[in-house]
Amino acid sequence: MTAEIWDVIIVGAGLSGLSAAHLLRKRDAKLRILILEGKDRVGGRTVSTEIPAANGFDRWDFGGQWEFKIKGGTQQLSECLAERVGRENVRLGSAVTAIWQNAEWARVTTTTNTFLCRAVIVTCPPHLAAKIHYEPALPSQREFLTQSMPVGHMIKFIITYQTAFWKEKGLSGEIVTGSSVDCPFCVTFDATSLSGNAALVGFIAGQQASQWSSKEAGERRKAVLSSLVKYLGPEAASFIHYEEKDWAKEDYSGGCPVNVMAPGLLTYYHPSLRKPCGRIHWAGTETATQWCGYMSGAVQAGQRAALEVLAELCPMILTQEEQAATITAAVTAVQVGSGALITCTCPLLAAEVFASASVIAKKCLAFFTFLHQPGPQMFPQVLNL
Ligand SMILES: Cc1cc2nc3c(=O)[nH]c(=O)nc-3n(C[C@H](O)[C@H](O)[C@H](O)COP(=O)(O)OP(=O)(O)OC[C@H]3O[C@@H](n4cnc5c(N)ncnc54)[C@H](O)[C@@H]3O)c2cc1C
Repeated sequence: MTAEIWDVIIVGAGLSGLSAAHLLRKRDAKLRILILEGKDRVGGRTVSTEIPAANGFDRWDFGGQWEFKIKGGTQQLSECLAERVGRENVRLGSAVTAIWQNAEWARVTTTTNTFLCRAVIVTCPPHLAAKIHYEPALPSQREFLTQSMPVGHMIKFIITYQTAFWKEKGLSGEIVTGSSVDCPFCVTFDATSLSGNAALVGFIAGQQASQWSSKEAGERRKAVLSSLVKYLGPEAASFIHYEEKDWAKEDYSGGCPVNVMAPGLLTYYHPSLRKPCGRIHWAGTETATQWCGYMSGAVQAGQRAALEVLAELCPMILTQEEQAATITAAVTAVQVGSGALITCTCPLLAAEVFASASVIAKKCLAFFTFLHQPGPQMFPQVLNL
């Protein structure tokens, strides 16, 4: 049973949890911090995997990727943070099932252990935070919020080739499609690695993901390839390797890229997104006030939650500005205009900010067609603008 007492326990070793731990450690090296992670790896919604390529093997991102292109993959950010925080403070395969708290302590339970601490930061996406048992129960406003924030559904695939034959034909490798029964993907891009290994990246998303997810992997791959042949030519059929990741089937993620609010929630329930519940503080990219849904948002949210905890446990460490900021951040709505909200909730569009206006307009059209399809959708709050 209970043996160890920690200052802060962080639930989740994604970018948000590790950023929180890193800031806490930086500001007060004496704090005892433990990170409990359900998966057997760090990085959460960022994962970089080595697959066969033209020059042997190379690494591609199967989760969060854009903003800055990171050689070797974005998962390295979490690996580096874990090193700095100390691997001994990160426990993998430790899914949190319950959090109990009173005026003095919080008790965090995993499938195999129980820990006592003074503060908890929960960084898992809202639909998974909702699965943890809380005692006493969380305020009903918080429950309504997490129960009405579904996660998107996206399958990401990488196909490697001997050469970037599309470039030789004067094509960018970028395909934007509308909904179709034959073509599983909605968008592809050139993903040739920095070492020069030719590849395409593509996304099967939203309604198409729910249609194609239940099919045999071989059938899905065949349909992807025949669509690539249709758009890029017969060379597309001669690939080296096809690899895909269905995030809905990934334990402790259950979907991607981000959870979204059902219409009306942002208006009525948004304070519950970040407002601490006793000793429990909320982080994760969904709670960011800027770049919500992105890797940057994950870092920002983790750091904000870390400052909240410091304000409680050791306020003398913080400047007056930081103390004031922790109070306002907890109740601030997402600080973006309507246009930015679309960008913030749609990584694929945001990745294209450098494309020409006409290309963006075409993509907006394709995405709005996709968003307005009946059935499960990824970004419902866009409809609420
Ligand atoms: C396919 C895909 C494409 C994307 N594209 C982009 C992009 O181009 N640009 C961009 O900026 N972002 C992109 N994103 C989003 C980006 O990856 C995320 O915003 C970011 O990684 C979220 O970090 P996080 O720490 O908030 O959450 P997560 O990474 O989800 O971390 C939460 C952690 O909590 C763990 N966990 C969950 N439940 C429990 C539990 N009960 N107990 C213990 N641990 C638990 C999870 O395993 C996970 O490690 C993409 C994501 C995906 C999947």
